[in-house]
Amino acid sequence: RPPRSTLFPYTTLFRSIIVLATSNKNKLKEIQEILKGFPVAIKSLSDFGPMPEAVEDGETFDDNAYKKALHYAKVLGVPCLADDSGLVVDALDGRPGVYSARYSGPEATDWSNCEKLLGEMEGQTNRSAHFVCVLSLATPAGPALTWEGRCAGELLAERRGEAGFGYDPIFFSPDLGKTFAEATMAEKSAISHRGRALAEFAAEFAKVQAWLRQRMAEIKPPKPDHSEFEHNDWSKERM
Ligand code: IMP
Repeated sequence: RPPRSTLFPYTTLFRSIIVLATSNKNKLKEIQEILKGFPVAIKSLSDFGPMPEAVEDGETFDDNAYKKALHYAKVLGVPCLADDSGLVVDALDGRPGVYSARYSGPEATDWSNCEKLLGEMEGQTNRSAHFVCVLSLATPAGPALTWEGRCAGELLAERRGEAGFGYDPIFFSPDLGKTFAEATMAEKSAISHRGRALAEFAAEFAKVQAWLRQRMAEIKPPKPDHSEFEHNDWSKERM
């Protein structure tokens, strides 16, 4: 736990807010766990009620993470952290890549995505693959910071393990000596693409917070328009 008074001398009176642009409870937990003790309040989209969804039509992880972060930062008027991730397979020219979540079609499930990938990998001798995770922290006016984490492994020819999600059962990690689906959450997070990107983010957190303060201070709030109350006598206003 970082000692607040030395690392964050300007933040003893208030905590800044960062909204995490995900409705995925696991990701939210993971990020809150890593940022425990930091003077920041991590909120999720579900804390704010219904709002228009971000369109994820970018061609890179960077594009998509930034699009999501900027969209929700604009809608909510506060800094927003979004992640985009996926699996990149060398023998398939980088597929499924940014299409990892819906690889087997609009009704895709984790099972059907793995099934499709296993089919495409049949007879392939080059089984190398890596996961990528890009985190983007955007302010409502546009500027953003980015972190990327990668994790290399080999695709198996059949599933192993029950834990995790997505392509975990067919992703063998040489670092762990097992698939991601055979690892505990802590084992996976210590080396995973998302864990690594988050660790970088956390390591730079003091700098990030100073940057955020500056960027947010530059944003001028829109001038209130009171024209419809022109006849009103504001001196008698009571709240
Ligand atoms: P998104 O970042 O939530 O859009 O996820 C993209 C997709 O990539 C997921 O639906 C999974 O299929 C895959 N993926 C991303 N991270 C992981 C992981 O840690 N394990 C397994 N699959 C993952």
